[in-house]
Amino acid sequence: MNFEQFSLDPRILSGVKDMGYTLPTPIQQQAIPVVLAGRDVLGIAQTGTGKTAAFMLPILQRLLTGPLRRVRALIVAPTRELAEQIHEMGAELGRRTKTRSVTVYGGVSKQRQVEALRRGAEIVVACPGRLLDLLGDRAVDLSGVEVLVLDEADRMCDMGFLPDIRRILKALPAQRQTLFFSATMPDDIRELADSILDRPVTVQIGEVAPAETVSHALYPVSHARKKQLLLNLLARTATGRVLVFTRTKYRARNLARDLARQDYRVAALQGNMSQNQRQQAIDGYRNGKYDILVATDIAARGIDVSEITHVINFDIPDTVDAYTHRIGRTGRAEETGEAFTFVTEDDEPMVHQIERMLGERIRRRRLQDFDYSTAEPETPARPTSQEQRKQSPNHGRSKHRSYRSGTQH
Ligand code: AMP
Repeated sequence: MNFEQFSLDPRILSGVKDMGYTLPTPIQQQAIPVVLAGRDVLGIAQTGTGKTAAFMLPILQRLLTGPLRRVRALIVAPTRELAEQIHEMGAELGRRTKTRSVTVYGGVSKQRQVEALRRGAEIVVACPGRLLDLLGDRAVDLSGVEVLVLDEADRMCDMGFLPDIRRILKALPAQRQTLFFSATMPDDIRELADSILDRPVTVQIGEVAPAETVSHALYPVSHARKKQLLLNLLARTATGRVLVFTRTKYRARNLARDLARQDYRVAALQGNMSQNQRQQAIDGYRNGKYDILVATDIAARGIDVSEITHVINFDIPDTVDAYTHRIGRTGRAEETGEAFTFVTEDDEPMVHQIERMLGERIRRRRLQDFDYSTAEPETPARPTSQEQRKQSPNHGRSKHRSYRSGTQH
């Protein structure tokens, strides 16, 4: 099946081509015809499956006809990063159409968003808090919304947005198409879905588990040795873009600083940074200025950077869902990736839960010749590119860039 079979307008198909997509992903195959037919959808799919284009393409198709410059599609997402991502995807796929999209989220100037809305747009991609704020100011009119998308609904509930979402729903016409996406379906999410969807078609991609293109490994280690283990692992592994997760903002900031001191090209991404700083970190990571991003869960939500070869859980996540989301950053759209998780003895219960979700035992790895004792460590030297090639088990895999030393840049 190719994209031509969906009978999308040629302007939209050329957007698809510009993005370099040749074959629809499984969720696109299932969801696009259903959304084009106007049905409600309950999509159970993790990030990395191509779900954004699965809802965006039919929305763009719908917007080709009908009134311009009024809000007809509302997409609600948990974080600014994800909102930005969806907005960019809409802009790129719809580049040859007249459709305009506007983002609405907190932490940046409200005035600009108000002005953009005043100029008129058919798509609004919003985080719940600022959207309610603008609704209160009467700066946005949602009475003409034909399609509502709730993206990463489980995460929005985790973040406490459920009451906000219910308030937003009140501002929308009852007669509309609703597309509801979630990586997991706990009871409260299912209840929300049942209450707002009208005879939905369920679209489910595989099990609710990370993409199969990701290989998982655990690295048992003490708390005190985590940083040295990371430095050793980075020095010995041929990696492309690496995303490291820590449990707290403070740990993300400090770890990024420590890696920078070892001449890694690294940025932090955590909630204490301004929106501008976050965007700079993500842009730098995307365009190759940084090889490593050290992030917290919420800050990393929705970053869509291709070719992340390694996700390293410096701290194990608190929930199985968070594991799925973190790992969803690598192995995207048929690329392969590796997921390393540092585990201490305290983490065993969470490891069991993750293994139960994956349906298999994750292999434990020990780094050879690494001193696991808690005595004062020494820092490994960064390898030269030649050494890197010799040591690297990944050498020759074209998708993986090796580390380039700072002087080459
Ligand atoms: P998403 O699950 O929407 O976050 O998408 C994950 C990644 O897959 C993004 O980088 C998309 O650009 C990419 N992608 C989406 N659809 C396709 C496709 N049909 N072929 C190749 N890549 C795709």
